[in-house]
Amino acid sequence: MNKMMTEPKDACGVFGVHGHPEAASLTYFGLYALQHRGQESAGISVARKGRIEVHKGMGLVPEIFKKEDLTLLEGEQSVGHVRYSTTGESSLSNAQPFVVRHKGRSYAVAHNGNLTNAHHLKARLEESGSIFQSTMDSEVALHQLIRNVKGSSLEEGLVKTAQELEGAFSIIFLTGKGEMIGMKDPNGFRPLCLGRLGQGYILASESCALDLVEAEFVRELAPGEIVIIDDDGVKSLLPEKKVQPSTCIFEYIYFARPDSTISGLNVYQMRKAFGRKLAEESPVDADFLMPFPDSGNYAALGYSEVSGIPFEMAMIRNHYVGRSFIQPTQSMREFAVRIKLNPVKEQIKGKEIIIIEDSIIRGTTSRTRVKALRELGAKKIHMRVSCPPTRFPCYYGIDFPDPSKLIAAQMETQAMAKHLGLDTLHYLSIEGMLEATGVSGAGSRFCKACFDGIYPVPVCEGISKECLEP
Ligand code: SF4
Repeated sequence: MNKMMTEPKDACGVFGVHGHPEAASLTYFGLYALQHRGQESAGISVARKGRIEVHKGMGLVPEIFKKEDLTLLEGEQSVGHVRYSTTGESSLSNAQPFVVRHKGRSYAVAHNGNLTNAHHLKARLEESGSIFQSTMDSEVALHQLIRNVKGSSLEEGLVKTAQELEGAFSIIFLTGKGEMIGMKDPNGFRPLCLGRLGQGYILASESCALDLVEAEFVRELAPGEIVIIDDDGVKSLLPEKKVQPSTCIFEYIYFARPDSTISGLNVYQMRKAFGRKLAEESPVDADFLMPFPDSGNYAALGYSEVSGIPFEMAMIRNHYVGRSFIQPTQSMREFAVRIKLNPVKEQIKGKEIIIIEDSIIRGTTSRTRVKALRELGAKKIHMRVSCPPTRFPCYYGIDFPDPSKLIAAQMETQAMAKHLGLDTLHYLSIEGMLEATGVSGAGSRFCKACFDGIYPVPVCEGISKECLEP
């Protein structure tokens, strides 16, 4: 089977609860709010009396958990995970949380990100006799933690583990001894926030998951921070390893939910700001502008605000199709694209249109949709993209393909316009994107490596996706 990979795939979402009698049910709702971050598999594990039980499966959250499953997951501490594989194959053995027992003690891990040194660490561990059950880099992190807490305090073990791991990691560990741990890499690529619910605590990839369970947002974990949460409260550790904040700017452009706030910046407002800047940088006249819903919606609102051009929803989204789905054959590809979005014929005929896109990765989807608009009689079609051209792969937890599959790495913008069937095509500039964030010194505050090829954490020369797989 072929998997359609025309849009960027999210890495994963994590959600943890400490100190609530219905921890598993809360986690279930939390994972619902984070479903956009991964639709391949989901799991929930619960710690109780020193043991950690887990229930996980392939598919969407409501497909995996029935009421009885949650009833069986009894306990006051829980961690959940939704996954899209960026390293390791898509299989049940790679679904998370990943749970192990070592010397009578249980541990669970749920990880969002990509360890850029996982293959080196795994080779070393295997050399010394470790046995792995999955092809996930997250299992490597768990091995490192278990080794490091042996003969040391939990705190020392955690600090050592954080210092050994490289790349992007927003991780939740359960120790089976009453602690829930949150750990963020020194660059803070992926979000992870702390919330309070009654006497309990929540850790979640995005603040929208805290809203759903009515938890109070306490704060985002700082880059490089480790929090140990137990019945005494929250203890924060900031190991000395050099911290260089590099929040993934693509979280704001595409991945995160618009109702989330990451590092103090609301995603909805950021998307509108990108759209406003895009309108300033590349104005064009048209009868109306339209997004390819849903992720283009907010930048389109911003573009409309500045340009005064009416915003129309001329493509209707089928809400019952996930972000990714399997299609059986190449000949079905066009149908597969149209399953998601269908144009409103009467709105399109004879019109000059601006399409606002949040990003173009392979270009396959955009090309098919533009073709559909032409066939319906659109007079002129302009496209404006609310991020710069995506020319470089991501090694920090997002499944951007290798450059040969990135259309912007293969052709210049004008050639791409022709290829996509457009009259004109313009992208937001890197400078414009950074300025639109409103953050001073934004150039060194965000990761933007997929646009400029400047990687905040070095990746080995000639690195490939296979190289990242432990
Ligand atoms: S390379 Fe792009 S997608 Fe990956 S972390 Fe950096 S900004 Fe985000």
